[in-house]
Amino acid sequence: METKRVKIEDTARIHDRELLEAAEILREGGLVAFPTETVYGLGANALDEAAARKIYEAKGRPSDNPLIAHVADPEDVEALVEYIPENGRKLMEAFWPGPLTMIFPKSPAVPYGTTGGLDTVAIRMPSDPVANRLIALAGVPVAAPSANTSGRPSPTTADHVWQDMNGRIDMIIDGGPVGIGVESTIVDVSCRIPTVLRPGAITMEMLREVLGEVKIDPAILGPMGADMKPKAPGMKYKHYAPKAELTLVEPAEGQGED
Ligand code: AMP
Ligand code: MG
Repeated sequence: METKRVKIEDTARIHDRELLEAAEILREGGLVAFPTETVYGLGANALDEAAARKIYEAKGRPSDNPLIAHVADPEDVEALVEYIPENGRKLMEAFWPGPLTMIFPKSPAVPYGTTGGLDTVAIRMPSDPVANRLIALAGVPVAAPSANTSGRPSPTTADHVWQDMNGRIDMIIDGGPVGIGVESTIVDVSCRIPTVLRPGAITMEMLREVLGEVKIDPAILGPMGADMKPKAPGMKYKHYAPKAELTLVEPAEGQGED
């Protein structure tokens, strides 16, 4: 497959014509990599099971690792979920658009191919203007994990995506380097006490300020016991594995702490 590359000339002034072909590819079940404020994502129509399957193939991602559905507007959540818990509404108001993903009970519209067989769905509204406009033009929620092969570092430039995904996907939108480089925080709002399933750009303190009580999934805090299962299935897989040697330098005694 030939991978097209489209450069957004000025991300402060996006012209719809730069994104129309990508939106069409998404609607028709193809794969498009695009910038978000966290990392580059690899997008497919979240309501199209066959399209979601292509993401798993292109990334070599285990099929029990569910995808996050990205929306362009908080109102787009309604069709994807059974209901929106009060805590979910509070977090949307506080942190959307932004690097916060929430877990909701899914509606029948969302295929199990997107949720890795779970009855819940992960949803986020990105703040990146390219991502937002692309999703709005596609007119469908866009499932988008990071645009790298599984186990490799998440890409923060279109060149990184190109190196990893050229020939495996339909298009790469180049919107320049992305800002955060760390993935979204995942919070399960489908349980009574909201629970952090993956730490990320929105911190525990920020969440507690809005919600009061917030728990953290014990499976992500330390070495996992055999009987422990993280509630975000992806947390059991290897992350951030650069192809380089890593040297850890320990400070001499009495140094390095402040
Ligand atoms: P990625 O998009 O590759 O950064 O990873 C998505 C993360 O979201 C993985 O850790 C998934 O396990 C997690 N995730 C997606 N959907 C759900 C869900 N319904 N319940 C729990 N975790 C989820
Ligand atoms: Mg990833």
